[in-house]
Amino acid sequence: MTLLRPGDPGFDPFRHTFGPGGSPALVASCADAAEVADALRHAKAHGLRVAVRSGGHSLAGLSTNDGGLVIDLSPLDQVEPLGDDLVRVGAGATWGAVSKALAPHGLAVSSGDTSNVGVGGLLTGGGLGWLLRRHGLTIDHLVAAEVVTADGGVLRVSAADHPDLFWAVRGGAGTAAIVTRAELRAHRVTEVAFGQIGYAAADAERVFKGWREVHRAAGDGLTSAVARVPGATMVLACHADAGALDALTTLAEPTSVDVKVVPYPDILEAAAPPPDWQPHMRNRFLRELTDDHIRAMLAFAEATPMAGVSVRGLGGAMNRVPAGATAFPHRDSEVMALAGLLGTPDQHPARLPAFDALWAALEPEATGAYVGFLSELSQDDVAAIWPGATRERLIEVKRRYDPANVFSGTASGTL
Ligand SMILES: Cc1cc2nc3c(=O)[nH]c(=O)nc-3n(C[C@H](O)[C@H](O)[C@H](O)COP(=O)(O)OP(=O)(O)OC[C@H]3O[C@@H](n4cnc5c(N)ncnc54)[C@H](O)[C@@H]3O)c2cc1C
Repeated sequence: MTLLRPGDPGFDPFRHTFGPGGSPALVASCADAAEVADALRHAKAHGLRVAVRSGGHSLAGLSTNDGGLVIDLSPLDQVEPLGDDLVRVGAGATWGAVSKALAPHGLAVSSGDTSNVGVGGLLTGGGLGWLLRRHGLTIDHLVAAEVVTADGGVLRVSAADHPDLFWAVRGGAGTAAIVTRAELRAHRVTEVAFGQIGYAAADAERVFKGWREVHRAAGDGLTSAVARVPGATMVLACHADAGALDALTTLAEPTSVDVKVVPYPDILEAAAPPPDWQPHMRNRFLRELTDDHIRAMLAFAEATPMAGVSVRGLGGAMNRVPAGATAFPHRDSEVMALAGLLGTPDQHPARLPAFDALWAALEPEATGAYVGFLSELSQDDVAAIWPGATRERLIEVKRRYDPANVFSGTASGTL
């Protein structure tokens, strides 16, 4: 285990996340489950609060803290094909590295759209990516995991071993254990067609409505999203066959069409926003995307400086998993609606009333939330991520495996 303290070379990156930063007292970089267990014992002995960090991309700033211990899993970055389409990945690997390691084997795991996001955070939250409708969420492919529980116990969890904890690991966002290694069923994927189609900002309403009709008519092979960003409207789409993207290039007069057939790792992009930016971001699920939803989202994006909205298409394999099968219960929506304020934190307050008004307009029908795309975790947000029976079941698992709330610094720490 490598220990870093404030002032040590290499310490500073652990103060930062994709959201708020912090000033931890100690960083323990762990190379295996035994070291993670040691780090947890150290935290208990010294009364240090714990933050768990895999790829450091938490939008809510959860992978650092003030005055506590950061358990850094980045040394746990091995990717090992095990045969029979099964792969074992370390929680500290990035999804870009996983995709590159699997490509020579003709395999891919359905993950997110960003190469530098970590395995640990995305996997424990759910995992929505470009193979979502074809193959489902990342958690839907988890066969077993090696985890470290709050008391330092190292367990293998699967459908047969500790099924309650296995359920909670898939969507519970680190509720009751730290995942150190995950065994996932990969898919036979080599090349994919990926399209980025630009339209004028003025055509946004037509493009959003047209995109919705293509999304509804398409089979599970198409996973796509539409966004209104400052100055433009964009459609992004992935399919095994380039011809299937044609319908998305004629929603209005495109300003750019970039459709290419490339190896799967090439469609994962690295996110590198300006270092002082902290996006303010919220999402909710919609069973049906209506014209009123589209108009409300676009009115917000048009009237608010440096704001963006997007709609990610859901359904397909993701929605065929029963709601109670994992701790991610949102399996009946057509789309996810997202809105974000870009820029530095001091730029947000003036725009928050418009942001909150948008969600108030959507919220009668917009229910449920994805933990990964939230920059704040209010009580309402936590209740939306884990509603009703999911919440009750997570609380039960938490009582069993983390009664002292050692993992209070996770999204579910306030459950
Ligand atoms: C630029 C960007 C693009 C994104 N794109 C996508 C996307 O396409 N699809 C998608 O689904 N999500 C996406 N996300 C959201 C992403 O899944 C979450 O932010 C996720 O938490 C990041 O994982 P990480 O390991 O990098 O995070 P970290 O910041 O390291 O961890 C975040 C939190 O997750 C929990 N956690 C992390 N590792 C573990 C572990 N090993 N065991 C238990 N709990 C753990 C902890 O509570 C931790 O504090 C994106 C985020 C960003 C910033």
